[in-house]
Amino acid sequence: MSHNLLSSNFFTMAKDVIPGGVNSPVRACMSVGCDPVFIEKAEECYLYDPDGNSYIDYVCSWGPMILGHGHPHMVSAVSEALAQGTSFGAPTWREVALANKIVDMLPSIEMVRLVNSGTEATMSAIRLARGYTGRKKILKFDGCYHGHADSFLVKAGSGVATLGIPGSPGVPEEIVSNTISIPFNNRSALEKAIEQETDQLAAVIMEPVPANMGVILPDEGFLEFVREKTSKNNILLIFDEVITGFRLAPGGAQEYFGIMPDITCLGKIIGGGLPVGAYGGKKEIMEQIAPSGPVYQAGTLSGNPLATAAGIATLEVLERPGFYESLKEKADYLAEGMKKLATDSGIPCVNQRIGSMMTTFFGQQEPVKNFQDAMKSDTDMYAAFYRNMLSEGIWLAPSQFEAAFVSLAHNWDALDFTLDAAESAFTRLKNI
Ligand SMILES: *Cc1c(COP(=O)(O)O)cnc(C)c1O
Repeated sequence: MSHNLLSSNFFTMAKDVIPGGVNSPVRACMSVGCDPVFIEKAEECYLYDPDGNSYIDYVCSWGPMILGHGHPHMVSAVSEALAQGTSFGAPTWREVALANKIVDMLPSIEMVRLVNSGTEATMSAIRLARGYTGRKKILKFDGCYHGHADSFLVKAGSGVATLGIPGSPGVPEEIVSNTISIPFNNRSALEKAIEQETDQLAAVIMEPVPANMGVILPDEGFLEFVREKTSKNNILLIFDEVITGFRLAPGGAQEYFGIMPDITCLGKIIGGGLPVGAYGGKKEIMEQIAPSGPVYQAGTLSGNPLATAAGIATLEVLERPGFYESLKEKADYLAEGMKKLATDSGIPCVNQRIGSMMTTFFGQQEPVKNFQDAMKSDTDMYAAFYRNMLSEGIWLAPSQFEAAFVSLAHNWDALDFTLDAAESAFTRLKNI
């Protein structure tokens, strides 16, 4: 885009000193065939680039910004914390306050440990599961993303799927040989894997609603089935709610579907845009963690005062009456509008949504139920749609295999503006 002069200069300089010019792969926008736009600042539902263009933000920092940008309650909470000191390496009341909120909100969590990212939460959770059960294998689902720790880079979603790479060099085979990956929504594959590995499986880890291969809904009864099979075989069930936590409901997918996992991983929203992750579960399991137990896990900046202030403030806003209803009302409006535009345009695509997270899969006619289905999407069509929307000032994820998020800050004007932009984008796609 010719009107992104400063941004493209920054990218040129970035590529010289940062691998690919970015600090997380999908940001490079490679799969949608354009250079990334740099962002200078954000307000409410808008992002601003250094060239003075604005964008309506549906990436929401890949999920965390459920309040939108610069929510006054967040700003004052973090400013207050900042003035009191940024890190002490000693316990603070804010950690207790955030832990209490998490225990109150997440039905299956009795005790929680704070970390600094979703990746740290999931890798610590499987260490805990292995330590607790004395078993070493884990089972995951194709296309689910659980951060970038070695054990999870097997048929992973998000950037791994976007770049079309099977795993990653640098991950020893001995490590991934302990990871089994099966298709989502596939009961017989789960039964078979559990049968073969019963005495070796420490945990099944899953996104209860996968959002890193695009948004995929669990089939009716599938989560119940996983819960039943894992319980029966003394395998721990880990819900990776890094995206769904506080998004689908105050208590995440476990509240939404009424399924209690043994361990839950949290991230993204829990830090409101500052680096926080967490993992929690039953006391009996969590007390295995050092120093109350032998499973080691630590962090210099864990429970950081700014991050916990941001987390507490975010959760406080989520608890206000009507929050989720209002979010859902906006998401309904957007999703229904998108569906209608897509149908009217005649372009084959399927919009999948739950609550305030959604994906439009291009080139699809039937519901997308697993990674294999998702991979059949028309990524060129998505890329064309993405570029059209960007040029209209709409900021979508630069990959078919991600979710769009609605935040509290999306106002009706912004939603209407988005639907108008989508209408012209669909029209232009039809004329290609
Ligand atoms: C983003 C994400 C992670 C990793 O979190 P980071 O903070 O990026 O390390 C893990 N699991 C899921 C489901 C995610 O969406």
